[in-house]
Amino acid sequence: MMSTIQQKMFEELREKKIFDKAIDYGYAYLDHALKRNVFPTDEAISNLKNFEEEMPLRSSNASDVIDFLNQFGAPATVSQIGGRYFGFVNGSVVPTGMAAKSLATFWDQNTAMYVLSPLASKLESIVEGWLRSVFNLPRETVAGFVSGTSSANFCALAAARYRLFKNQNWDINKKGFVNAPPIRVVTGKEAHSTVIKAITLLGFGHGNIEFIETDEQGRICPELIPELDNKTLLILQAGNVNTGSFDAFSKICDKAKKAGAWMHIDGAFGLWAGACEKLSHLTNGIEQANSWAVDGHKTLNTPYDCGIVMCSDKEALTGALHMSGGYIVVSEFRDGMYYTPEMSRRARVIELWATLKYLGREGIDQMIFEMHERAKQFANEISATDGFTVLNDVVFNQLLVRCATDEITNKVIEHVQNERVCWVGGSTWQGKRVIRISVCSWATTADDISKSAQSFKSALAKTK
Ligand SMILES: *Cc1c(COP(=O)(O)O)cnc(C)c1O
Repeated sequence: MMSTIQQKMFEELREKKIFDKAIDYGYAYLDHALKRNVFPTDEAISNLKNFEEEMPLRSSNASDVIDFLNQFGAPATVSQIGGRYFGFVNGSVVPTGMAAKSLATFWDQNTAMYVLSPLASKLESIVEGWLRSVFNLPRETVAGFVSGTSSANFCALAAARYRLFKNQNWDINKKGFVNAPPIRVVTGKEAHSTVIKAITLLGFGHGNIEFIETDEQGRICPELIPELDNKTLLILQAGNVNTGSFDAFSKICDKAKKAGAWMHIDGAFGLWAGACEKLSHLTNGIEQANSWAVDGHKTLNTPYDCGIVMCSDKEALTGALHMSGGYIVVSEFRDGMYYTPEMSRRARVIELWATLKYLGREGIDQMIFEMHERAKQFANEISATDGFTVLNDVVFNQLLVRCATDEITNKVIEHVQNERVCWVGGSTWQGKRVIRISVCSWATTADDISKSAQSFKSALAKTK
């Protein structure tokens, strides 16, 4: 005898009505999302109260669940797949990646081990090789497919911890930190907060970090880097989250490599500059590092979530993330869980593979250069207006804008956000309030930039 719920679910699979619905709603969203208000309206946000109910006692009609979700969910989304979302560093989605993810939803693969999904295992191997070649990294570089650069930074720094202690004959996995020999952690004052978080989680203590002074663009001052050795972890940055600036890798990496330090590069969005011919000078020298963290979901515009940790020391990465158990089936093929903190994990490599396969080197090159061009356009249009100053060199896709005072800057952010033509956030840069603009969507056109710059101008006018 089948339970009622089992019968119901077989019925839903047979009828496919809910899937048709989901797809139709999805299509309607796509038609609308690029034109609509970027941030949800007050009404849409207020309607979220419809979700507030006690955990239901009885099962629902499946179609009603999908209808309800679409009715109150879709309007309350942030339309970040369009061309006028400039907040944080949030990519849009390459349509082929979106379609691949939709298809893969039906497959629902778990990428922990080869025996759980030969497909995912194969694609992870293939994409590992592709990324190694796109970023021009050493042949022995391996990759783990994680949720984002937060996780990628964590994995890379765990590998560094494993190796740096091994250099001192200390098995950190077994012995932990009690009586452990000291390891130094050195990074720039502008290190991303997720780097600091990873250091904290790994037990180094953020109070022990030796911070190096940075210049007006947020780059580490190479001459201020302290003496390095094989007990030191040096963390560099490709793409400062505010200015988009890059550390001087060629200069720094030579010295660090000779000293035997472990070099990690946080390149969440900036590592992709290396995949764009006219911008690749920004990442010169990164191949000398030991580990790299990068996102798919930012510059490459894969669907969320998608990050990659890459490491040229396979033993250190898998040694740091290793786990074992009687029921684990180790194969001669790639078992994804040795490269990531998780065991069960969704097959995000499928969308990543589809995005890379679709774009090819040329497509990636063009897409990234377009983002750079649009960022420069934004800078030009905005600096033509009295009252706005662009504070950074627009070397990549980020720009920082400031008005005469902190107060006016904050007001402009508020007015721009309320107008909903585009979305930008604020930040504090070198003690002053600034507007952060990140051009990170394949869909951003010259017209999107002009409309957004116009919204900035009317916002400034409102403060007068
Ligand atoms: C976004 C970002 C991160 C964090 O990446 P997530 O994908 O959000 O986890 C780390 N470092 C830099 C420089 C970033 O821009």
